[in-house]
Amino acid sequence: MTDSETYTALCDKIDQSLMVEDLMTMISIPSMNPFQQEVRKGYREEEMAEFYCDRMSDLGLEVGSREVVPGRPNVWGVLKGRSNGRSLMLSGHLDTVGDENYPDAFVPRIKNNRVFGRGACDMKDGLASYLEVVRVIRDEDIELKGDLILTGIADEEDQMIGSKDFGKRGPWADYGIIGEPSDMKVCSAHKGQVGYLVRSLGKAVHSSRPEDGVNAIEGMMHIIEALKALQQKLMSRDAHALCGHGRCGPSVIRGGTIVSTVPDYCELEIDRRTLPGETREDVYAELNSLISTVVQSHPQFRFEIEGPTIDVLPLDVPTDNPVLNSVLGVIRSITGNSAEASAFPGGTDAPHFGFPTVIFGAGTLQQAHSMNEYVEVGDMMVATRVYLCAVLDLLYRT
Ligand SMILES: [Zn+2]
Repeated sequence: MTDSETYTALCDKIDQSLMVEDLMTMISIPSMNPFQQEVRKGYREEEMAEFYCDRMSDLGLEVGSREVVPGRPNVWGVLKGRSNGRSLMLSGHLDTVGDENYPDAFVPRIKNNRVFGRGACDMKDGLASYLEVVRVIRDEDIELKGDLILTGIADEEDQMIGSKDFGKRGPWADYGIIGEPSDMKVCSAHKGQVGYLVRSLGKAVHSSRPEDGVNAIEGMMHIIEALKALQQKLMSRDAHALCGHGRCGPSVIRGGTIVSTVPDYCELEIDRRTLPGETREDVYAELNSLISTVVQSHPQFRFEIEGPTIDVLPLDVPTDNPVLNSVLGVIRSITGNSAEASAFPGGTDAPHFGFPTVIFGAGTLQQAHSMNEYVEVGDMMVATRVYLCAVLDLLYRT
């Protein structure tokens, strides 16, 4: 048999019903990100991690886990290669966003060949696909040269403490794929996200005599104006080939106490979307210089910077990287369509791992955080074929 016939024969072994069953079981295990709140049942990754470890263990993987913080583990399973070939990680996050205003979020349902429920496409579908990839490889006695590693990562939806820990302590691989909902596009780049909090300090007085005080909210108005100017500047710089331009803007503002008092305090959370090559230190310096300019023309105001309150790295996998070209090649041969690398709209775990990782998965970000989350089973089947063929391409053939 030629390689392509072998691949096709193996892809035909993918069992849709097993995969959908795993997905539905995982949807029914709430693993909402606690988002800075208390870690508690339903709002932690532990129960999902236990299920995933059990399934990986059933499939004969060497399973490991490590708590990043109590109740929030990263887990992994290794299918050992028979020689020292390159290794590949298929990675997904264990957490989901919340269930506010989403009735029966954790009651999985199938309708019109779609699976509905919180986590359906973001991204318990990816985790289910990976299990099925391993099952096919095991059942068909395929011997891989290098290690295939599955991972379940904590806290993707908030601070990404899981993938940051993984990057520091491993296990690592030569390449990675993350099945985030990319609308079946192969994403090799995305912007980073750096958040800082700026505090404006003024002087509180009775608001009938504002001239005696310093209005901290007015101070912040100058910062917001300066941010608009910075945004203009970012748009005038050279665009990144896939990510476009960097962005910045105000996301949260708090300040003042009662209407009759000139506020002495205001704080603003600033969202800065960075391009590959820009660091949090660059953002800090940029913000400092913006504040200095404001203070020069308005010396009555004082400002402080705190943070970073969020720090997600940008991603930029080189165009000649084998994992990128393998996934693109596999998609072209499976779908017959042209496939090109593009940018993922949001941030992901990928840049924290420390090895080249691309993003490809069923579903879209619009469905992902909506109150009607679903994944098309047909797309999930295609994505699983792509993962399986990429594993064969990178770990079996070469
Ligand atoms: Zn996700």
